[in-house]
Amino acid sequence: MKVIFHPRSYEVYTSDPAAAPGRMEAIVKALEKDFDFAEPGPASEADLAKVHGRQHIQSIKSDPIVYEIGLLAAGGAIQAAEIAFHGEPAFGLIRPPGHHASPHSCWGFCYFNNIAIAIKKLISEGKIKSALILDFDLHYGDGTSNIFGSSKEVSYFHPEGTNRETFLKELQRCLHTERSYEIIAVSAGFDRHEEDWGGMLKTEDYFSIGEWVKESSLEKCQGRRFGVLEGGYNHSVLGRNVKSFLQGFRD
Ligand SMILES: [Zn+2]
Repeated sequence: MKVIFHPRSYEVYTSDPAAAPGRMEAIVKALEKDFDFAEPGPASEADLAKVHGRQHIQSIKSDPIVYEIGLLAAGGAIQAAEIAFHGEPAFGLIRPPGHHASPHSCWGFCYFNNIAIAIKKLISEGKIKSALILDFDLHYGDGTSNIFGSSKEVSYFHPEGTNRETFLKELQRCLHTERSYEIIAVSAGFDRHEEDWGGMLKTEDYFSIGEWVKESSLEKCQGRRFGVLEGGYNHSVLGRNVKSFLQGFRD
């Protein structure tokens, strides 16, 4: 299992909670002893253009720091997807997050849709034809849904359960009933934790989710799976929550 991380994502590129100082440090500290890290290169503008319109790309470019870090985040998702395609699970420890980025607009601390760019790239290179994107962030990934809403090949699923039990059941049901696909990509947001904004999930639930995704991927797509970081804002629990997820997710 590889954790894809670029040290430039330590930079505080805006004043939003996803860009807050100490956020990536908290996660790296929790993971560095137990996981292999690899450094991504930036995505290319052609990679961005697989998902985003020219005007949207130009508007993000007007802030050079956000643009550079955004390219590294998309590049991290691409690298995680590539490693997963070759059979090793991977996690893109990246920011800015991406699931609120649509083809021509963005909000919610997102700029480019990292996971969508990674999936579109695998498809455009003829490596896969289908994918399941599972998003367990507190918030609905409207950007990802807008990008793949009409796609027959790529399914987007965001469990909406209103309490811990129904949420986890719904998530499990999706993994059991979804038709076959060639890779599972996880938009891993940790803001639904009991000590984060959503006030719902326990740390061990992330381990279970990681394990369920692993089992489903082994059953349906030769274990091909990757995740990327989306939300998660309480730095005092974020590291252990990401670690719990990855311990279930890894081989
Ligand atoms: Zn969120």
